[in-house]
Amino acid sequence: MTRRLVLIVLVDALGWEQAGDPAFVPELDAPRAPVRSVLGYSSANLPTIMTGRLPREHGHFSMYRRAGPDGVFAGAKQTLALASRLTNRRWRISGWLAWWLRRRGVTGYFSLYEIPFSVLAEFDLCQRRDIFAPGAFDGMSGIADLVLGTGAGRIWNWSVPEDRAFTELSEEIDRGEGRVLFLYTAALDGLMHAAGPQSGAVREALAGYAERIERLCERARQRYEDVRVFVFGDHGMAPVSGVHDLRSELELAGFGPGGPVLYFIDSTMARFWFRSAADRRRIEEILARHTWGRILGDEELESLGALFPDHCHGELIFLLEEGETLVPSFMSGIPARGMHGYHPDARHSFTVLLTNTANRPYPANLIELHALLRDEIREATA
Ligand SMILES: [Zn+2]
Repeated sequence: MTRRLVLIVLVDALGWEQAGDPAFVPELDAPRAPVRSVLGYSSANLPTIMTGRLPREHGHFSMYRRAGPDGVFAGAKQTLALASRLTNRRWRISGWLAWWLRRRGVTGYFSLYEIPFSVLAEFDLCQRRDIFAPGAFDGMSGIADLVLGTGAGRIWNWSVPEDRAFTELSEEIDRGEGRVLFLYTAALDGLMHAAGPQSGAVREALAGYAERIERLCERARQRYEDVRVFVFGDHGMAPVSGVHDLRSELELAGFGPGGPVLYFIDSTMARFWFRSAADRRRIEEILARHTWGRILGDEELESLGALFPDHCHGELIFLLEEGETLVPSFMSGIPARGMHGYHPDARHSFTVLLTNTANRPYPANLIELHALLRDEIREATA
């Protein structure tokens, strides 16, 4: 019998609100508390879990940042200029672009969403390399380096469909050879965006996860003497209460895409880059009219670990209040029922750790969660 298994299940968007109740997978019985995420989406939170660093340190914040001279879309500029005039072929052009990016060696997770082709080349992908594979972060090691670098474990990332990943994980447990098995799934995140975090469909999905996790634990106990389980999310999910069309407002004020001010409209953030102080003042005036969002000052961004010296993620960041959304954004033209990407102190931003281990201090945030996982993996693979 193998001595110890570290079993990690990272369910994207599994929040404190979804899984904080001790009745959810009760056998993971260590006392639970909210775990603070970082400002940003999964594109910021997952790298923080993997490296134990803040966004400014690991460099990942939004999926799209301002491009430098080596921007990943630079070589597709002409195609994009042409594509921006072929509005009815968006789907096919996006498919070609995704293929082209993979061929250029992009292994990280990305989506082209509904970013206007006319401005796409102004941006760059933040996550060029798969963060669930070794060597993803410049000058720092991540959880994947520890798990896969030692050959002692296996990771299932976003590229494996959820059902298959759970089946393969179960088979791997039965083999009893791995010492660290790590499954990541984004299915709950997608469902909560579409159906809302308090919907019946989500309650059903959560019951399904609880059952799957309990079954995995049971099988693992048959093959391993010591089974150490860690189930957590990267952030939570808030019910959507408001929808705001900032994009049309900007266009009406003369700031259309490709105009004098460059901007990226995420679901809960608008990020701007300016050519003149006068443009900046005008944008600040437009934003100041709204009570459902606010401009984050440099001091606050610094305290959130999201002040980037080169402002590659925005010279000005307008963040929405919890539950408010920007529609249409560059991500979607359709309102969602659930959203995340608010201030980390907002009620629904917190995630949670479910575990059956109690010999380490419970993490207050994702950086402490990383430290806990790192120590567990090192011990299991030593
Ligand atoms: Zn999401």
